[in-house]
Amino acid sequence: MATDTYFKSPDGELWEAVIGLEVHAQITSHTKLFSGAATEFGAEPNSQVSLIDAAMPGMLPVPNEECLRQAVRTGMALNARINPWSRFDRKNYFYADLPQGYQISQLYHPIVGEGAIEVDLEGGATKTIGVERIHVEQDAGKLMHDQHPNSSYVDLNRSGVALMEIVSRPDMRSPEEAGAYVRKLRAILRYVGSCDGNMEQGSMRADVNVSVRRRGDPLGTRTETKNVNSVRFIMATIHHEIFRQIEVLENGGRVVQETRLFDPDKGVTRALRSKEDAHDYRYFPDPDLLPVELSDAFLEECRASLPELPDAKRQRYEQALGLTPYNAGVLTADVTTARWFEEVLARLAPDQAQRAANWVTSELFGALNRLGKDIENSPVSPAQAAELIRLTADGTLSGTLAKQVFEIMLETGDDPARIVEERGLKQTSDTDAIKAVIAEVLANNPGQLEQYRGGKEALFGFFVGQTMKAMQGKANPAVVNELLKKALG
Ligand code: ADP
Ligand code: MG
Repeated sequence: MATDTYFKSPDGELWEAVIGLEVHAQITSHTKLFSGAATEFGAEPNSQVSLIDAAMPGMLPVPNEECLRQAVRTGMALNARINPWSRFDRKNYFYADLPQGYQISQLYHPIVGEGAIEVDLEGGATKTIGVERIHVEQDAGKLMHDQHPNSSYVDLNRSGVALMEIVSRPDMRSPEEAGAYVRKLRAILRYVGSCDGNMEQGSMRADVNVSVRRRGDPLGTRTETKNVNSVRFIMATIHHEIFRQIEVLENGGRVVQETRLFDPDKGVTRALRSKEDAHDYRYFPDPDLLPVELSDAFLEECRASLPELPDAKRQRYEQALGLTPYNAGVLTADVTTARWFEEVLARLAPDQAQRAANWVTSELFGALNRLGKDIENSPVSPAQAAELIRLTADGTLSGTLAKQVFEIMLETGDDPARIVEERGLKQTSDTDAIKAVIAEVLANNPGQLEQYRGGKEALFGFFVGQTMKAMQGKANPAVVNELLKKALG
């Protein structure tokens, strides 16, 4: 259950913020929505432009089935209504990055209707955020104003790339809720495989709608900040808009419905233009395209192809694998981590899941963090990780030795068993050897021995430490403890 969030103005008044997000997610597809041109990121400008994307007269768009399939699968992952009949509309406007003079989109009959996303908030609370619709549309090209002193250039590589616009209901009430929503949506898209979620490359960006109202009032007038491209910036945009709008209203002004831009350097939003009404775009059904009709077989195939989604996976990790809620949350938050972890699990006995989870979330994450690497580029493979975990579980390695072996694995890329063999890092439970070392330690520390026998039991740890040190960390700690107790008792 989420609690209500209010924002206090400098005058002490309580305000509520209302936030709705329109997230544009680039659909994972090798080709564009209506043409066969490639979509690869970072290509030479204008090298991925077909005659359709350049809007040559007489060209006809042909819908890319893969893009529609991905939108439908995404809708299903959000438990949304899928519309078996949808249609493309033309949204007409003039801009230099839009050679057609219109964008093909879906206003009246989107392919996906209402759905919902459950987001995780601080302190274990959850909240359901409604999704109003998902429609499929074309991206525009990109203008470049910094290439020439007195001309602007246009790159049409993005022109015609397929986007899903995922429109939320105005259900969020704070920057934190919006941040949690975008992170969860991104996680789901990456699990489904319908969008890579790469915000730095512009694969996901949001139009951020914000309004404020006094407690109990009807919805206020919203502003829409366009194309915000990171979770941090989305949260900063909302924060800035909330307090800007409160100030305007408390000073007796009114918020105008307008489009704004976020300035990441200053952390503020700026007015761009006042909001056009929908009719300015002269939307009408695209006469070049037939309505999209989805067969039952197609829908079934989409549903069957969905992977286990983050919420279900997390629940399974807790209930079937017995992982702590923390580990289950961290390991399922991103699909790449979950897949990596499952490759480790596949090589271990079922009762080693919690041990593996602890190792991945502490040792591996710690090392990756230090090395500045993602799990995809982990220097240690899941098979090597599983081997290391097995060597710990069967007592070949103590915790300390396992850490040592892992460090060597990171440096050399060698398999743990080989490292243990070659460097003689095996833990020993050889009682005679340990007994001999203990006798030596006691003989060398008569003062401590006397104090211990005189009642200073805290010195037990000192003897453990000395014995372990003398055995170069290779003695089995449980055996050391047991033998020491006997020797001292
Ligand atoms: P448009 O295309 O004109 O931006 P949409 O209906 O596509 O309109 O999107 C509106 C977005 O704004 C949705 O995400 C919705 O939740 C949000 N929204 C609507 N009314 C408000 C409001 N009063 N305050 C904040 N957000 C709002
Ligand atoms: Mg909008």
